Amino acid sequence: MKAHDGMYIDGEWRPAAGTDAIAVVNPADEQVIAQVPAGTADDVDAAVRAARGALPAWAATPPAERAARITALRDVLVARKDEIAETVTAELGSPLKLSQAVHVGAPIAVAGSYAELAASYAFEEKVGNSTVHLEPVGVVGAITPWNYPLHQIVAKVAPALAAGCTVVLKPAEDTPLTAQLFAEAVHEAGVPAGVFNLVTGLGPVAGQALAGHEGVDLVSFTGSTAVGRQIGATAGAAVKRVALELGGKSANVILPSADLAKAVNVGVANVMSNSGQTCSAWTRMLVHDSQYDEAVALAAEAAAKYGERIGPVVNAKQQQRVRSYIEKGVAEGARLVAGGPEAPRDQGYFVSPTVFADVTPEMTIAQEEIFGPVLSILRYEDESDALRIANGTVYGLAGAVWAGEATEAVAFARRLDTGQVDINGGRFNPLAPFGGYKQSGVGRELGSHGLSEYLQTKSLQF
Ligand code: NAD
Repeated sequence: MKAHDGMYIDGEWRPAAGTDAIAVVNPADEQVIAQVPAGTADDVDAAVRAARGALPAWAATPPAERAARITALRDVLVARKDEIAETVTAELGSPLKLSQAVHVGAPIAVAGSYAELAASYAFEEKVGNSTVHLEPVGVVGAITPWNYPLHQIVAKVAPALAAGCTVVLKPAEDTPLTAQLFAEAVHEAGVPAGVFNLVTGLGPVAGQALAGHEGVDLVSFTGSTAVGRQIGATAGAAVKRVALELGGKSANVILPSADLAKAVNVGVANVMSNSGQTCSAWTRMLVHDSQYDEAVALAAEAAAKYGERIGPVVNAKQQQRVRSYIEKGVAEGARLVAGGPEAPRDQGYFVSPTVFADVTPEMTIAQEEIFGPVLSILRYEDESDALRIANGTVYGLAGAVWAGEATEAVAFARRLDTGQVDINGGRFNPLAPFGGYKQSGVGRELGSHGLSEYLQTKSLQF
């Protein structure tokens, strides 16, 4: 695959400071498809300087002009959508249809939403005798994961640009090619030099240098809770702003009045999509005692259908990690009703779509994020029991509630300690705030709430 051997800094592709490279591997066949440079602290420093240099002019650019650049960026993503989808499939392993519809379709919608918001947002408001100006926070260090490679980038860069911030992006090691295509799109869209910069590299090297750089005003991180905790500590010590989108262990609560077959089938699809590598996936299905056996049978049948359709997980380490969780589930007494730890194919990092029944709330597979195609089905006795189980993890990113009437589901959803809940299979909304309660994170992405993360207030009194 085509890859740049440099970094995109100050509007051009520049040679990397060091000579180390990262091999990009196709997880479906384990072949190396490209090499990208492994950035160092020197590359990060050059990128931050470029972003700082570009900040005053970009921050002063009228919102309508910033909106025009984001619209142009959205249009380039649309024009190059097939190439981007093929690249996501090559480096992430997701089936091409999923790459087209979700991995490219969702970020195009998000970019479009920020083009509109930049043009319509009130960057100034009156409060009594004060005028409050909403000003850009400054230089953003954006660090993104591989699971939705383009979406994670657009969900940070689009609102940052809309706000008038400049950006240095450090994308995940596994999916740098999508990030390079995004940088090309930014360039083609006519975004001024230095406003967006890309440094590929390893998390503990380039990522850490970016998070700790004194020229960065806000670190926006999406990834694991373990790394997020470190980044939060670094940012706290430097008294700089931080936004953390972290892990999840979301509950799919099926109340007895729900359409059971629909709730189970949609729930299984939600977990198996993207091979379970979705932070908001509903990996714990909660079913009333009276419907438990029927739900387990339906879920096992639904999961079996995913056998041939599911893509690999992202890399060998992730495959091993997911398989160890499956072994742990068996060892702790959960009952396998679909899939299992054996690799379903000789080549590629595939994991069988797996469903566990008889999972109890304290089991490891019911508490820890697995990030693979593994569903746990738990039993509850009544609503208060369901609520206790649903809220009984350190996470609180997303969830789902199903009931005969939406009002019943809403009443339950209001008691969940989580940032987003789908009611009876509600659809993705690119304008709705997304982010976590508890250890799932700090801050929100998407829509106007996502935009406000990149703004700070200045009040003038009259
Ligand atoms: P990760 O934390 O290992 O890596 C995420 C990013 O951080 C990568 O770019 C990586 O290079 C970088 N990084 C790693 N160590 C670093 C360090 N010491 N300093 C600075 N940067 C560092 O996570 P991952 O394995 O790529 O992604 C999976 C995790 O992301 C899961 O836990 C998942 O739940 C979470 N996630 C959360 C959301 C959300 O919106 N809440 C979305 C997607 C993924």
